Amino acid sequence: MPEVLTGAGVSPGVGAGPVRRIAGDVPEPEAGSRHGGDAAAERDGALAALEAVAADLEERGARAAAAGNTDGRDVLNAQALMARDPGLADGVTAKIGEGMGAARAVFEAFGVYREMLAGAGEYMAARVSDLDDIRDRAIARLLGLPMPGVPESDEPFVLVARDLAPADTAVLDPAQVVAFVTEEGGPTSHTAILARTMGVPAVVALPGATALADGTRVLVDGSAGTVRTDPADAEVAAALAAGAARDSALAEVSGPGATKDGHAVPLLANVGGPKDLEAALANGAEGVGLYRTEFLFLDRSVPPSDAEQEEAYRKVLEAFPEGRVVVRTLDAGADKPLAFLPPPGEEPNPALGERGLRMARRHPDVLAAQLAALARAAAGLSVKLQVMAPMVTDAAEAAFFAGACRDAGIEHPGVMIEVPAAALRARDLAPEVEFFSIGTNDLTQYACAADRQVGGLAHLQDPWQPAVLDLVAPAAAAGVPCGVCGEAAADPALACVLVGLGVTSLSMSAPSLPLVRAALARHTLDECRRAAEAARAARSAAGAREAARSHLPGLADLGI
Ligand code: PEP
Ligand code: MG
Repeated sequence: MPEVLTGAGVSPGVGAGPVRRIAGDVPEPEAGSRHGGDAAAERDGALAALEAVAADLEERGARAAAAGNTDGRDVLNAQALMARDPGLADGVTAKIGEGMGAARAVFEAFGVYREMLAGAGEYMAARVSDLDDIRDRAIARLLGLPMPGVPESDEPFVLVARDLAPADTAVLDPAQVVAFVTEEGGPTSHTAILARTMGVPAVVALPGATALADGTRVLVDGSAGTVRTDPADAEVAAALAAGAARDSALAEVSGPGATKDGHAVPLLANVGGPKDLEAALANGAEGVGLYRTEFLFLDRSVPPSDAEQEEAYRKVLEAFPEGRVVVRTLDAGADKPLAFLPPPGEEPNPALGERGLRMARRHPDVLAAQLAALARAAAGLSVKLQVMAPMVTDAAEAAFFAGACRDAGIEHPGVMIEVPAAALRARDLAPEVEFFSIGTNDLTQYACAADRQVGGLAHLQDPWQPAVLDLVAPAAAAGVPCGVCGEAAADPALACVLVGLGVTSLSMSAPSLPLVRAALARHTLDECRRAAEAARAARSAAGAREAARSHLPGLADLGI
């Protein structure tokens, strides 16, 4: 029986395909587990599991190479070699000889290698996660558990998970994933941001998502937030055709962002590194409004070298010779933990703890190295480099950051406005810096006291909340250029409202740019102002959305 499940639609578009689930973590086999007495059979089983893992990795490597991904093949072949390492097999055999069960023997034998690698320098330490992956695959085989990690599939699929970690998504092939569905995560979670960056429809906070069986055919509508199981072929075809029609309507509007009456609103892209540039350029970004540099630092036990940082920054800067690039310094902590910058102590509420600029003040050397790498990367380039700090609370913090930028030779310092205190007193921060960029994801989280990682609070993580609009207004009126780089900028109706509130540029995941460009081009600045006024006068998020839309008649032409 077809069934419609509803969650929060966070990345527009429709996608249809079979469900493939990301399995949960493979549990550690019980310490002290013993085999039944037949050591030879137990050993054969363990070695066969390792060999099967190696063969599977090689096969995936061959497929990656056939698709032109030779780097991928090399990584997978190197993993296969680790799985066949004779020293490892000896370690497993010895432990089974002592009576240990196969799964536990594999776990412990890998543990010895793990420690050796972890202590053997940065490059080798980075291989620990490869080793863990092989170990978990072998244990999953021995215990009959589902394989961990992103599933393999011969056909495009809908990826279903409890939530997606950055490490899971790094290996995703956008051509293979037609939609994301997660049980957890809110509209501003990193799953949502990643989906929009990849241009993949997504529904998050869907109760019971992980209970969808592998192989079930589903139709995902990332605008409506629905997942329909076992849809009829005609229904899938109609939904895909409607999506294609809207895409072609959008392709008709191009060029720099502006309202119908010519008020310029630069449209910029949010990027996580050089890999996102192609989409930014293809969607007509006029520059970068948020470069989230922490993606370069994820999954590392030591920070990237100065030269590596400089190279990554330069690639992004070079992509916009006539434009601007706004780089955000490291936003470590809370939802973006970095292994080499752990919080100084136990934090019961990490989102209210040491993160963003607070962390940079504890580690001024890390901040100074990043700013110096940015200054070197920009040397000799025509692009305008602007650098901003995350999680700034007051004027003293803004002044500290501007001073650090000056010391590094960075001319255009700014701050993110994502803490309500900073928004309310934006006039105090404005004299210290050259620009603001409002992070509506965190601003909403803090204004509504609703953790952005908790799926059940999606209704409170809504930037349409009039309280959030009330916080945008003073920041936009504080006398320095004020952009928005939170996900609110990607909502075409809200983008018009933000412009009506006085916001001067909008930055978003690249695939959202055409729709926002088209929405602005269909409305005058006055209409945007009236929409903003009406939204602020409402008493709820839904009321604000509805009131704004009544002043934005051009949205209907876009099918939104
Ligand atoms: C925000 O908080 O709105 C923002 C843009 O930063 P991030 O989502 O990376 O926290
Ligand atoms: Mg933020």
